[in-house]
Amino acid sequence: MSILNKRYFTSEKAAFKHLEAVLWPDGPVCPKCGSCAQPYDLAKTRLGLKKCRDCKKQFTVRVGTVYESSHIPLHKWLQATYLICSSKKGISAHQLHRILDITYKSAWFMAHRIREAMKDGGLPPMGGEGEHVQVDETYFGKKEVVTKRTKRGKPSHSSKMSVVSLIGEGKARTFHVDRADIPTVKAILAKNVKQETALHTDESYLYKNIGKQYGDHKTVKHTAGEYVGTEGQHINSCENYFSIFKRGMKGVYQHCNERHLQRYLAEFDHRYNTRDLKDCERTELALKGAVGKRLTYRVIDTEEKMNPFNELSTY
Ligand SMILES: [Zn+2]
Repeated sequence: MSILNKRYFTSEKAAFKHLEAVLWPDGPVCPKCGSCAQPYDLAKTRLGLKKCRDCKKQFTVRVGTVYESSHIPLHKWLQATYLICSSKKGISAHQLHRILDITYKSAWFMAHRIREAMKDGGLPPMGGEGEHVQVDETYFGKKEVVTKRTKRGKPSHSSKMSVVSLIGEGKARTFHVDRADIPTVKAILAKNVKQETALHTDESYLYKNIGKQYGDHKTVKHTAGEYVGTEGQHINSCENYFSIFKRGMKGVYQHCNERHLQRYLAEFDHRYNTRDLKDCERTELALKGAVGKRLTYRVIDTEEKMNPFNELSTY
């Protein structure tokens, strides 16, 4: 059976059942008061509607998730989440708009809310004694406001968007930064990497002094044509990550406004960190991440008003 034949992709009732099974594995939980008492079933009034026995508030599984207050049927949300999770380099808002038969604007909103669901917030620092973390930065696209140019008038790194990535034990955390400079990199590492960890980096000046504050610091000499150091250190995972990310940003999204970049990075992090899972399992994790991110919905609304239609892709 094709994955596209799954009932929850076509039937709204099955979609509710599926999301309920994923988000409430032990039965419904009231989003208002947290009560786990079996709620009254008001499905006859509205699909998926329940009423809490304790606080008497009505709710569905969509309340408190990125799917709340959306006019798009839930089964289309499940389709969109699956499409984003199963496309290695992403899927443009235009393609979602055509496949799901919704407006481009709705598709754009949906994709950003799904990316928000893919964000891993509040993770503990990575690495530790005997562990290593690869650190690398990359530059791509164009900044909206170019502040500096090099002497010959060529665009310098500061005219491009900057991204810093940390990869430890096969898991990536990638950050959009205004400028990849020493204080910024230092702050990211302080928050995300345990001090006993060995850092693996290239020879960039960014890491020279910072490296001394960690358990160990090994570099690869790219300038000497070296890709794996004498002690086996490398930053190839970061480079592979950047390569997929750039191909996606260039080939699929074609352009992204800098203020949305962190959400695109969350999308690429999510797929990278779940690359050994099946598409369905990766999608399920993205559905689980939809909880508790309701607030950002308004943030996206505001950003969208400031800068509508930020992907250039028309296919
Ligand atoms: Zn309640």
